[in-house]
Amino acid sequence: MANPSILILAGDGIGPEVMAEVKKIIGWFGTRRGITFDVTEDLVGGCAYDKHGTPLHDDTMAKAQEVDAVLLGAVGGPQYDNLDFSVKPERGLLRLRKEMDLYSNLRPAQCFDALADFSSLKKEVVAGLDIVIVRELTSGVYFGEPRGIFTEGNERVGINTQRYTESEIARVARSAFELARRRNNKVCSMEKANVMESGILWRQVVQEIHDKEYPDVQLSHMYADAGAMQLCRWPKQFDVIVTDNLFGDLLSDAAAMLTGSLGMLPSASLGAPMANGRPKALYEPVHGSAPDIAGQGKANPIACILSFAMALRYSFDLGDEAARVEAAVETVLANGLRTADLMGPDGGTPVSTSQMGDAVVAALDASI
Ligand code: NAD
Repeated sequence: MANPSILILAGDGIGPEVMAEVKKIIGWFGTRRGITFDVTEDLVGGCAYDKHGTPLHDDTMAKAQEVDAVLLGAVGGPQYDNLDFSVKPERGLLRLRKEMDLYSNLRPAQCFDALADFSSLKKEVVAGLDIVIVRELTSGVYFGEPRGIFTEGNERVGINTQRYTESEIARVARSAFELARRRNNKVCSMEKANVMESGILWRQVVQEIHDKEYPDVQLSHMYADAGAMQLCRWPKQFDVIVTDNLFGDLLSDAAAMLTGSLGMLPSASLGAPMANGRPKALYEPVHGSAPDIAGQGKANPIACILSFAMALRYSFDLGDEAARVEAAVETVLANGLRTADLMGPDGGTPVSTSQMGDAVVAALDASI
């Protein structure tokens, strides 16, 4: 059988720095676990614009459609701020998401014990937290028509339209139920069915998909504003939360920050299953290209490493190996190793990007 394939798009700023640490781990799997990935690398974002005049070359797009998983670092930088909108670095990432039709965005909020003091919430509220928000990513109010700023009488009116079809809701609901089955079998769906028709339909369709296809999963519904409150009050009551594009945008950012640094947050964007049964998938850290620290060895590579762990779990059915990587991260943090963004109340041993990556590899070595 062919090796699983990965396209690495390290991108700009700290992207290549954090991706270098992931490459060490990919190499470790080949030499120590006999799991070899076929890795190709290409350009995205500002570096692609510099070479090709476009933030994503058509050949790169075609490669992304063929591999089992895309791993992306970050795109953007101040030197590209004045480019025309159509060739800005972010357009490369948006094109990938759109053409791969990545409708299901998984944003875990996981609190490693060693970092529980980093949260703005009390330690007992966040310690051991492990939830995932599934955000619908390709429809809803960010895409619905009509949209625009129009003139009505003698004033302007800004219009966006919240629009969801049944099939758009159904497919992201399935994605959340599938995920819950691999975890603690619990889904909470959030909308505003009390004031929005799209919310009423959302609730109906999620319930129907549940009853027909996933009756074994525990399903609850919550209004999104109450959900936001509950996330801050007692987030550990949740396992998987599924919600639309707009609410998911807000709730996933809020949930992510429960756990501390931006340098710790991975994400996955999944689409429909390919011929081999694996979903189309792009994995990336939540953070950007951090131009303020790029090239200084200060970036925390853990978000990117944990994104690779998500790829192991969701694209390659290697859940045990994903857990091994996560445990290795837990170990280095428990041992007090800290990149600059993690230096907090407990002090710790300052390490560079590459020292952090080496420590994770050493912890992986110790795990076998
Ligand atoms: P950012 O995430 O790049 O940085 C915000 C702050 O967090 C900075 O102080 C940065 O130093 C710090 N930070 C981020 N990641 C870190 C890490 N791994 N380790 C340690 N510290 C880290 O967001 P920004 O400053 O708003 O944007 C910078 C550039 O990145 C912009 O061009 C923006 O458009 C782009 N961006 C890209 C993505 C993406 O590629 N998905 C996401 C957000 C922003």
